[in-house]
Amino acid sequence: MESYDIIVIGAGITGLSSAYHLKEENKDLKIAIVERMPTFAQGNTGKSDAAFRDIFTSEMNYKLSSSSIAFYRHVQEDLGFDLGMRFNGYMFLMDEEELNSEKIDKVRKRSKTEILSRDEISNLGIVVRPSREAMEIMNLKEIGGALFGKNCGILEPQNIASFYAGELEKMGVEFFYSTNVEKLNLEPVKRLDYPGEPFIWQEKKIGSIETKNGKMYADQYILATDVWVNSLLDPIGIDSHIRPKKRQVFQVSGDGIKRMVNMDYRGRDGIFPFTILPGPRIVMRPEPGSGSFWISYNDEIGRDFTLEDDPQPEMEFYYKNNLMVLREYIPVFNESRVTGAWAGYYSENTIDGTYYIFREMNLIIATGSSGSGIMKGDSAGRIVAALASGKEKARLYNGTEVPVEALGIKNRRVEREELVI
Ligand SMILES: Cc1cc2nc3c(=O)[nH]c(=O)nc-3n(C[C@H](O)[C@H](O)[C@H](O)COP(=O)(O)OP(=O)(O)OC[C@H]3O[C@@H](n4cnc5c(N)ncnc54)[C@H](O)[C@@H]3O)c2cc1C
Repeated sequence: MESYDIIVIGAGITGLSSAYHLKEENKDLKIAIVERMPTFAQGNTGKSDAAFRDIFTSEMNYKLSSSSIAFYRHVQEDLGFDLGMRFNGYMFLMDEEELNSEKIDKVRKRSKTEILSRDEISNLGIVVRPSREAMEIMNLKEIGGALFGKNCGILEPQNIASFYAGELEKMGVEFFYSTNVEKLNLEPVKRLDYPGEPFIWQEKKIGSIETKNGKMYADQYILATDVWVNSLLDPIGIDSHIRPKKRQVFQVSGDGIKRMVNMDYRGRDGIFPFTILPGPRIVMRPEPGSGSFWISYNDEIGRDFTLEDDPQPEMEFYYKNNLMVLREYIPVFNESRVTGAWAGYYSENTIDGTYYIFREMNLIIATGSSGSGIMKGDSAGRIVAALASGKEKARLYNGTEVPVEALGIKNRRVEREELVI
């Protein structure tokens, strides 16, 4: 097997964007991408809602997402590569108290937003005051208004992955698909060829990776395997600091839903905004192609951390949980049906909900995207590239500089997000 400057493991948005920015910085780098699936974006990238927002309370979240959004916009508008990017906005429905809270002031100072009134929300077909009984039994809230993020919307995750993969192929990066990495081989930096190496007194590195086709070698390795990092890190005693959480999407259709999805709301591409109910925070992602909503709910307590090979959507989770709430706020859900469903995982950083990007020896680990890897993926790739090239700061697409160690473990500087879904 040939040897590379860098081997990237995982061809989701994180691995692709990292390889792209490494190669952009240094065209001479010899890079291989190793992916266990037959093509790119078959992991969580392909299962994503792929919505994007720049409305966050955490400054780091704002920086990572606003620059990635600007880059994707550049790809679509200047480079003419269709990402299916639509600026239909984010509509966070809230009760009066939340709408008037400090966190919303904070968000509004930074990002382009509007506040929508109760009347405007009613005109969209949303019940602002659910029945008293429903509010009491199901913890629903009376809607006081909405925070509407303008530099927000949806895109097609397959398209952005395809942009990076296509550019990487043109730049000569080698792809090894259907190639599972079974093991990271720990070796001494200075080999003595004594049985039992590496000993505690030897400096260590990842010497090679093990695949069904044999070993592959590189100077540096980038582990961008999202929720699957632990199977490679646990055997060598490195903590990823992430845990997997199953996330499900239900595609829901119906005549009333189709009319709602294609409503020409404020001239925003003729698509209903990406909408978040006030509580429980169910998410409605309009899918203009099929005229359906993709419904999800990020359950925390009660949802275990088990990682299955082929996670399946649970219809009871939709019908007994999500639908019960949806029909109280949005009556068109009374005449709707589930026309598709799938499940994936969030690689959850349970502390502050943003990527961990850190180095151990000659291995860079980029994981913990916590449900926002599409909207932050381009920035994450730039930070990985900066770390791999030994830079202290990463320059994002929009010119913002981020200290690389701020996303690491030891000197991490990321505030906990308050506007969570
Ligand atoms: C239901 C759902 C909805 C989401 N909604 C949004 C959203 O609206 N907006 C947003 O920004 N983000 C969203 N996300 C999160 C987003 O999809 C992820 O953060 C992002 O896709 C992570 O990208 P990644 O490249 O790190 O991981 P992945 O796309 O999972 O890529 C990891 C790759 O590594 C490969 N791999 C794993 N182990 C090995 C191995 N041993 N050898 C070789 N290859 C291996 C996998 O096959 C996979 O292709 C959502 C996620 C889910 C599941």
